[in-house]
Amino acid sequence: MSDKIKLLQGDITKIAAEAIVNAANSSLLGGGGVDGAIHRAGGKTILAECQAIRDRQGGCNEGDAVITGAGNLPARYVIHTVGPVWHGGQNGEPAVLRSAYHRCFDLTDQYAIKTLSFPNISTGIYRFPKKLAAQIAVEVILERTSADIEAVNIVCFEPENYAIYRDLLDKL
Ligand code: ADP
Repeated sequence: MSDKIKLLQGDITKIAAEAIVNAANSSLLGGGGVDGAIHRAGGKTILAECQAIRDRQGGCNEGDAVITGAGNLPARYVIHTVGPVWHGGQNGEPAVLRSAYHRCFDLTDQYAIKTLSFPNISTGIYRFPKKLAAQIAVEVILERTSADIEAVNIVCFEPENYAIYRDLLDKL
């Protein structure tokens, strides 16, 4: 499966994929980092759909994910997942991050999505240690990239994350 995993560096909003994963917060109302970039580039319809999900279910829990359309992005869907805020690692943060990746794949399977792009969830404003986050991401991506999925892009914004993933993927 590892030949389907592509490591890229850049802005996730500029890379075409059937689904783009957003590192959202539980309000689903947009924020900084990649969340801000996705809503800026995607336009108002994404926020309107997030608002409708809020009205229905009151946001999105940490470790869970929801799906919307992708507005003006070069994608069909945005999968909004909420990673954990790092509080030292004794509060189940690794399991919550693992769950966030799994829930993205649950939606990928449910919507028969063939290509998807992940940002480095929780490693920005939420301060999750980058190496551990990358290990968890690669483990779940390897486990869940089924025969039906054509490509999974790992899109690193920061050179530091790119180097961490390069190292991990080269060892596979
Ligand atoms: P979180 O709150 O989950 O930590 P952030 O958006 O702060 O979310 O950071 C998650 C990751 O997304 C970080 O590695 C950050 O560098 C990266 N990032 C920020 N902007 C973009 C972008 N436009 N495309 C891809 N990744 C981005």
